[in-house]
Amino acid sequence: MNTVSGLMLLTSNHIAHDDQWTFNCSRPGLIFCLGCALEQLEDPEKPSVMKKFLLTEMLKVVIDNDQELLQSLNEEQQVSVHLLTVLTDLFNTPDDSITASAIEVIVQVCCKMKNDDLVCGLINQVTSQCLEDSSFQHSLPSLNLIGRLLQSIPPLADLLQRAYSRKIKLNILSMCEHTVVVAE
Ligand SMILES: [Zn+2]
Repeated sequence: MNTVSGLMLLTSNHIAHDDQWTFNCSRPGLIFCLGCALEQLEDPEKPSVMKKFLLTEMLKVVIDNDQELLQSLNEEQQVSVHLLTVLTDLFNTPDDSITASAIEVIVQVCCKMKNDDLVCGLINQVTSQCLEDSSFQHSLPSLNLIGRLLQSIPPLADLLQRAYSRKIKLNILSMCEHTVVVAE
């Protein structure tokens, strides 16, 4: 099926998903489940139209049910990390609109959760990915995400500056120590 109205939003594993991850869908009669949505977003066989619809619904849930969802995500940190990992993995899809939607959801989740550790972990993950990427074009979604996060969470710039300047200092110290040992 290629039409959104004919798409099933729940997977066969839905029975194993807790009710806290289930929300009303914008389409009457349909239910959105975060667990099922993540399963389908991870599935390379799922058509783009389905993934776009799921990301649109996910964004609406994050915006409209933010308190319930954020409470659940804050209590289940491993789900939050998994959510961000699945969304950043979508950067590898050739469809730019899927990447743009994934970035939008990530920015909303990060802005609303206000969890420094989660955001810093995400930045570390995407910057490492950028360093491994073979081309600038391939790094664009990650760079766009970092730009959007810096724009949306102004204190993040100071946090990153402190974290990365400390990392750079440690690297320089370790290089100096190595140079002294070699010189001896
Ligand atoms: Zn489910």
